[in-house]
Amino acid sequence: MFEVKKLPYDMKALEPFVSEKTLSFHYGKHYPNYVNTLNKLIEGTEFEKMSLEDIISSTYGKADKQAIFNNAGQVWNHEFLWKSMSPNGGAPKGSLLAKITEQFGSYDDFKTQLKNAAVGQFGSGWAWVCEQDGMIKILTTANGDTPIARGIKPLLNIDVWEHAYYLDYQNRRADHVDAFINHLANWSQIA
Ligand code: MN
Repeated sequence: MFEVKKLPYDMKALEPFVSEKTLSFHYGKHYPNYVNTLNKLIEGTEFEKMSLEDIISSTYGKADKQAIFNNAGQVWNHEFLWKSMSPNGGAPKGSLLAKITEQFGSYDDFKTQLKNAAVGQFGSGWAWVCEQDGMIKILTTANGDTPIARGIKPLLNIDVWEHAYYLDYQNRRADHVDAFINHLANWSQIA
């Protein structure tokens, strides 16, 4: 059975960019609901003793396993999200900054591409910074989909489901994404 993982900081730690109220619903209600739903769906099945990653890769693209994939993906994506945010966000440094500059032209250009991806994801989903073949990639996934289903290594994710920002930003997803990138992104994780 999967268990709810501990949040790596206090519920108020990300204020004012993500409020305690938002986290109390997002971490306190939405995320445990994915964990509990996944546990119910896999009980007594071949998935019961698998790791989360193995459940995701073995249900990916299978229409009759979509509910398990969606919930397993959302558990993985949220546990990664808690680590992708930090009260000590800021900007990349050193060799990571050099790599971003080499690939994207400048850190500002990288931020613009990441923001555009996050804002442009139609409906619910995620924006990602990933590593593939030694390159930094920006991509998006819909709903509970996750890059690890396709063997792509995530470095950071941004939740653009409305439940991630609506209490603080209402319809202004772009403001949420700006605050995330400029104040919360956990660059030490990416490094
Ligand atoms: Mn979420």
